[in-house]
Amino acid sequence: MQDNGIKAPNTHRYPPVGACIYCGTTSGRLTDEHVIPKGLGGTLVLPEASCDTCAKITSLFEQHVMRGFMDRGRQAMGIKGRKQHKRPKETALTQTFIQPDNVLLEQEVPVDQAIRVMHLPVLPLPGFLDPLHPPRPDAEQVDITAFDTIQFGTDQFQAIRPHSAVGVQIKDRMAIWDFVRMLAKIAHGYHVATRGMFPLEESPLVPIILGTRHDAKNWIGCIAEHPLPLDRPALHLLNDETLEGDGQSECVALRIKLFATQGTATYILASRIRYLSTG
Ligand SMILES: [Zn+2]
Repeated sequence: MQDNGIKAPNTHRYPPVGACIYCGTTSGRLTDEHVIPKGLGGTLVLPEASCDTCAKITSLFEQHVMRGFMDRGRQAMGIKGRKQHKRPKETALTQTFIQPDNVLLEQEVPVDQAIRVMHLPVLPLPGFLDPLHPPRPDAEQVDITAFDTIQFGTDQFQAIRPHSAVGVQIKDRMAIWDFVRMLAKIAHGYHVATRGMFPLEESPLVPIILGTRHDAKNWIGCIAEHPLPLDRPALHLLNDETLEGDGQSECVALRIKLFATQGTATYILASRIRYLSTG
């Protein structure tokens, strides 16, 4: 990344929903929902869209991701979080250099000469798009096929040269399940923002968001074809599309590309499955 600090585009506010988009309640306090977390630079806002109970659930997994494995990228890109935590300004980072004889050597490196990377999990094609592995009610969680590496700051070659090293070892502890639920939340929020509320029992994602179901691999994955257009200089790209099924069902598929200009994977999720009545 050459830019240090993302200019925050203007916030876009959709019309108020007036109901919790997760449990459907219309009573009690309803708060604004960011479609993409504010902590990732998201600017789309759904007003009056979450009750306090559901907000407690969603903010928990979002925080795990924001303060966890995505934190380094957020810092490197200068994205500010929901609360402007005053964190001590880092001046040095400890990095583990791999010596030519494969011995690991830890060294303090000035921040501007350090290698910063963020990993994003690459997932298989989700069951609803995969004729070989169609959705199964007993499916659990997700599999990971690879990791995309987004590199910030110093070029890797430049960074290792002064240390006569051949590489850098970077360890990441990733909260994959929290990340998957965050993807589901983004997709569901965007669906409601662009297409309006719908019967929540037609959402395969809401139970995953609320933690009552774990069959994410049926509905959440990555897709290799049809990458989202990169004609817009957006930080993240979202796109919804109605897929005609076998005549018995109709599905809305949502594509999400985070940090789109970095050539990352495109996530695809089923945000609504509607079974058509067969007369
Ligand atoms: Zn709710």
